[in-house]
Amino acid sequence: MKLKEYKIKEGAMKSWREIFQNPCDIILESFKTGSVNINRRGTINIKHPKAGYIKDEMINVPIFSHLIKHNKFGYYLIDTGLDATYTYDPYGGVKGKYVDKFFQEKNENIGFHLENKGINLKNIFLSHLHPDHIAGVRELPKEIPYIVGKGEIEQYKPEIYGDFLKDINTLYEIDFSTLNKIPPLGPSTDLFGDGSFWAISTPGHTKGHISYLINGIYGPILLTMDASFIGDNLLLKIAPSDYTEDIALAQKTLENICEFLLEYPQVKVLAGHELL
Ligand SMILES: [Zn+2]
Repeated sequence: MKLKEYKIKEGAMKSWREIFQNPCDIILESFKTGSVNINRRGTINIKHPKAGYIKDEMINVPIFSHLIKHNKFGYYLIDTGLDATYTYDPYGGVKGKYVDKFFQEKNENIGFHLENKGINLKNIFLSHLHPDHIAGVRELPKEIPYIVGKGEIEQYKPEIYGDFLKDINTLYEIDFSTLNKIPPLGPSTDLFGDGSFWAISTPGHTKGHISYLINGIYGPILLTMDASFIGDNLLLKIAPSDYTEDIALAQKTLENICEFLLEYPQVKVLAGHELL
């Protein structure tokens, strides 16, 4: 696998207000590709001073992949979810004591969702490199570009969680350090150059974590990805702690997202593992 820098352009628009005044012909379709059980204490950081009592209970959360269609530029995927390996094997064919157990009904896999749609994927944007977001790569085209945030590959642990990226040709990295912030969010890039689709640096959950924003004609949609696991993170303004690399940074990132949503109530928000 080759590692290359993803060429980014500084967008012409400098504020979210201006961006939202110029919606584009781009639509989003989300697919459930399986699910996983996680403890509510962990989806919400119980050590946060405002956490109060969080129930010690397992909750089943869906695992998503998101397809976007741009009127002019075509089809792109954000995260892959799970491939069909999980229908009959909860560990997806991966061995080891740290491998999570997933659930998948027949025909929930990402390959099935895309089949027969005549979709020619241009490339695949990833939020981060945890297995529930990339396992589906195994049944997707390998020759198209895959894109992550810079720093993400340093935390990738294929020997422990599965080598889902082994057959892809090139992994492109977005270097957010050269980009301007668009307050109250962090550095953001206008991926297609027309203001329709944005990658936003939201570190904490992992080092190179990316959230995405679709600026469509039916209103903007923010995909927080795992910067907010579930809706309660946004409601309580408390970030997750499980599977989270830097909890303090994840908290700061989540607070920026909450501020953004307060300032721009027209934005519809989807959490990483809950469609709100
Ligand atoms: Zn996740």
